Amino acid sequence: MDKNKIHINQDLCTGCGTCSAIAPDCFRLNDDFKVEVLENANCDEEAVKMAEESCPSGAISIH
Ligand code: SF4
Repeated sequence: MDKNKIHINQDLCTGCGTCSAIAPDCFRLNDDFKVEVLENANCDEEAVKMAEESCPSGAISIH
């Protein structure tokens, strides 16, 4: 999917790593333990939706 549709609110991200475990080709934790979409991300839409639903702090949105 188009990675520009994926939005991370880093103020909400707690760095739990759930999303990067679900979609490791799309998300990574940076040195501040905040999630980023990878530069050359390969984001599977279903995995991203699952990560959005699984994020405990609601930091991921798709639009
Ligand atoms: S699942 Fe949510 S809180 Fe956890 S690392 Fe990903 S964006 Fe941050």
